[in-house]
Amino acid sequence: MLLAHEPDGFDQLRVPTPDDPLRILFSGCLAGQPCGVDGTDYGLGAVLRDWVSLPTVRMFTFCPEDFALGTPRTMPDIHGGDGRAVLAGRARVLDEHGTDLTEKMLAGAAAMLAHARRHAVEVCVLTDSSAACGTQVISDGCRLVAVRKHQRGLGVAAALLHEHGYPVVAQRDFRSIGRLHRLVDPTFVPAPGLLDHHEHDWCRAYFGEAGTR
Ligand code: SF4
Repeated sequence: MLLAHEPDGFDQLRVPTPDDPLRILFSGCLAGQPCGVDGTDYGLGAVLRDWVSLPTVRMFTFCPEDFALGTPRTMPDIHGGDGRAVLAGRARVLDEHGTDLTEKMLAGAAAMLAHARRHAVEVCVLTDSSAACGTQVISDGCRLVAVRKHQRGLGVAAALLHEHGYPVVAQRDFRSIGRLHRLVDPTFVPAPGLLDHHEHDWCRAYFGEAGTR
């Protein structure tokens, strides 16, 4: 389930303890791994640092693109739909040179799903915008163009995790991330007025009211 759009999903997450921490799968770059296309963590490594090291969190990490394509690599983006369409064979993943990366992206997604299963992951926190890990907004075709287009949807790995019942949330779904933080630390009080990404002014302006789903 997409926690930002189906917040009732939080009720299905158990309250963790230090003896039995919540098993969370993070996109590798969110954990500070230099697995981005350019060999950096995109500056994301510090984003969640204040709560992921709590004893009530057991962190697992994975980068499906690094697994399948290596790092550094060319830029994969989905053409003709989102990750769900790729899984259904209706869309393809191409890099900026037009090289078809679809099969490798599917292999990376399958490896990420296997990782989640192996560790009995309970929820996934994933980097939005990625053709693999996105859960809210991803590029509509190649992003390395003069005027980048966006689409609402999931990346390939996120779509496969979602299809197999894993709750997924983007790192920039600030309201949902606050709820998750509070789940692992009941003393934490999220700031008022936090928004999930689809509620953000940019999304509303770009996609119109449909952006709120
Ligand atoms: S594929 Fe996912 S984990 Fe890897 S760099 Fe992209 S967003 Fe991060």
